[in-house]
Amino acid sequence: MEQLPVCNTVLSPDGRPRAVASDHGAAKQKLFDLLPPAFVAAVVAFWAFAPKALAENGWTIVVTSALITLAVLGLEFVHERHAGWRMNRREFFTDLFYVVLGSTVISWVSTAVAEDPLAAAKKSLGITTQWAMQMPWLLQVVLVIVLIEFGQYWMHRLMHNATPFWLTHAPHHHITQLNAAKGAVGNPIELVLISLSVVALFDLSLTAKFCAFNVLGVVSTFAHANVRANPPRFYALFFTTIRHHSLHHSTDYEATRCNYANSLILIDRVFGTYREGEAAVVGQDDLRRLSIWEQFVFPFQPLIDRIRAKREATAAAIN
Ligand SMILES: [Zn+2]
Ligand SMILES: [Zn+2]
Repeated sequence: MEQLPVCNTVLSPDGRPRAVASDHGAAKQKLFDLLPPAFVAAVVAFWAFAPKALAENGWTIVVTSALITLAVLGLEFVHERHAGWRMNRREFFTDLFYVVLGSTVISWVSTAVAEDPLAAAKKSLGITTQWAMQMPWLLQVVLVIVLIEFGQYWMHRLMHNATPFWLTHAPHHHITQLNAAKGAVGNPIELVLISLSVVALFDLSLTAKFCAFNVLGVVSTFAHANVRANPPRFYALFFTTIRHHSLHHSTDYEATRCNYANSLILIDRVFGTYREGEAAVVGQDDLRRLSIWEQFVFPFQPLIDRIRAKREATAAAIN
């Protein structure tokens, strides 16, 4: 007589056989774990094979960047990591404000104060880097990723080691939940500082640069998102994951001093700042969420407090 597997007779709360339900859960988890590398592969394929006219149209990078953020945000509703990080109206509009700020004002300021002067200096000094343009396209993408991430790593590390820089970066650490667009949230001074790079010194294919920007976008968006995706080792060895970055958002300051790389965690592994682990509760001090105004004035708060105390002392002396 044929024996039926016992587990198939046990029903899960939704009425389906439990074995089937857990198989479904495991398959879903496996699929989600592969999504970050699949997104990276899709982005590279798009920029490698998109028609030239489409790829070099300035709006294409704006649209692909927005689509990446929206797609990952959508995944938060399908397979969330923590209920406590669930998106709500207030978080959504704050994040949207910073995404728009980042792609307009921050981007313009960073171009005006860094990229344009660098490009002008390169031209006037007669520096040519045609060798970069001659490299295979994929190597150019890798070069841009490494250049941007190397600069960001040291700037970010400096922010965690020098008080004036920390004051600009601390608002990003005061966020009390992680979501797809949270990488864009921070004090504007910090956002400009972290956007500085030396890419403008190199002659590179425009599509290679756009591809690199989108790869970094995919990795850092997943690294901030409330998505239950734990990418395989071949990805997590090189790229920052939500596990690495949630640990960086730990609630005590000392615990934040690791995993500085926004996207290329390999740099932390090389420079000895990599730490294994994960955090489910994120924020700083008393876990108080800052408003946009508080995020903007945060670096000046010690100065404001000092002036206020002086005024009160003067008023008290007069009275
Ligand atoms: Zn940080
Ligand atoms: Zn972050």
